[in-house]
Amino acid sequence: MTEPSADTKPALAGIDFLPGPVLLLGAPGVGKGTQAQALVRLFGMPQISTGDILRKNIADKTDLGLRAKSLMDQGLFVDDETVNGMVAARLNQPGIERGFILDGYPRTLVQAGFIDALLDLHREAGTGGSALHLPLVAISIRVDEDELLRRITGRRICPTCKRSYNIYAHPPASEGICDFDGTVLEQRADDTGETFRERMVEYTAKTAYVIEHYRNKGCFAEVEGARSVNEVTRSISEALKRLRSS
Ligand code: AMP
Repeated sequence: MTEPSADTKPALAGIDFLPGPVLLLGAPGVGKGTQAQALVRLFGMPQISTGDILRKNIADKTDLGLRAKSLMDQGLFVDDETVNGMVAARLNQPGIERGFILDGYPRTLVQAGFIDALLDLHREAGTGGSALHLPLVAISIRVDEDELLRRITGRRICPTCKRSYNIYAHPPASEGICDFDGTVLEQRADDTGETFRERMVEYTAKTAYVIEHYRNKGCFAEVEGARSVNEVTRSISEALKRLRSS
């Protein structure tokens, strides 16, 4: 999870609106995490990544981490109840007054129903600060499957600053080393070709319906993800602005 630093301010000219609750949707490897980090810097709101929370639990060897690890290593989803509980707990903490970016959640229709109802409750109760009164905005990032495989198997992550590299498209200056803090880069255990195929099966069977759910609800935009990081960030910011002012 990436929190905005104290001096984080909207960095793009024209960002003069509250982003509110934002969902980033899309297949594994479309760039949800990278885009979420860019939006954190632009909008000064936190990223809530269920994948990051689960990986932290694995690193800390909690009971949840021990249960989740084998599922994640196989490319399978962790159960809805667990993941919903993690998100509900995070939304009870401060720091979400301007909004928040959910990255990698919801991934099933049960999770979508849960977050929709939870935010309805917050709205009705008038709790939790101004951003929770805004409707959810869902942004789906789309990338071809061949490109996704290349992105997933080429992805390397800095365990210190969480920056993401790609050995094909965006390698570090020095092989295997983070440009920013010199840490040895790591590959996620589930970023293999085999696990990618399993993750795509889960995605097609479950998450694709979540995208349709939000497309049908409105407050939805789809952006093309096979472009530079900055171009995709710009498209997402423009879509957010359009949806928030409509
Ligand atoms: P991610 O970092 O978003 O690619 O997530 C990595 C893995 O964590 C997924 O393949 C799932 O095993 C698990 N995971 C993350 N978010 C969820 C979620 N919303 N529902 C179920 N499993 C999840």
